[in-house]
Amino acid sequence: MVERDVLVAACEHKLNAGRFKDFTLNGLQVEGRGRIQRVLTGVTACQALLDEAVAWEADAVIVHHGYFWKNEPVAVTGMKQRRIKTLLTHDINLLAYHLPLDAHPELGNNAQLAKRMGWQFERCLDAELGDGLLWQGRTEAQPLTALSERIARELKRVPLVIEAPGVGEIERIAWCTGGAQDMIIPAYEGGAQVFISGEISERTTHLAREMGIHYIAAGHHATERYGVQALGEWLAAELGIEHRFVDIDNPA
Ligand SMILES: [Zn+2]
Repeated sequence: MVERDVLVAACEHKLNAGRFKDFTLNGLQVEGRGRIQRVLTGVTACQALLDEAVAWEADAVIVHHGYFWKNEPVAVTGMKQRRIKTLLTHDINLLAYHLPLDAHPELGNNAQLAKRMGWQFERCLDAELGDGLLWQGRTEAQPLTALSERIARELKRVPLVIEAPGVGEIERIAWCTGGAQDMIIPAYEGGAQVFISGEISERTTHLAREMGIHYIAAGHHATERYGVQALGEWLAAELGIEHRFVDIDNPA
């Protein structure tokens, strides 16, 4: 059992959350009870995840996608009201870490994806939102199909693959989890033969084919399951609290 402030400070310090210019608030978003024993983690603070937290009697929920995004309607009505009401009624804290949890060199989504896939990290390509978001590295030389099959196996989701003409065997790769399809341009400029992210836009296909870089959309949710899970495991070991990750399936 730890004080809520200890939990929040541990996350803040580990993730260096203050350094990011983000579209949302990183840290404690909804205040609940003061003492924490059970922490439930998930990708998004959707109603289904909150219902799991209530059923498990969690003291805190930590997610990658929380609330209060820039440009979202501010009124607490409808879906937003129901979610926040669930938290307040059950006195559950909500913590959210967005970009800090993509970029962290050990616990972040990019790092955890690379670990599962066996990709060798070489450097981060600076992006406008901050360092650590676009990763570049190497994999053993292989055809694109071998890479996409490995992704399907590891993430338990078949990726959408855009093959660019004339690239051949791949070795130099770049990746950014989530909805980072437009980073295909800096990935290409950085010398990658294939770029892996979560989502795809119509324009991404043309960018890939015409620049000459393969693109793999491996799923926004699927590529972002692992960071928050690693954070929860780290907190459990560091603070001696209970942690459980709940995967609310999302094909997107
Ligand atoms: Zn995301």
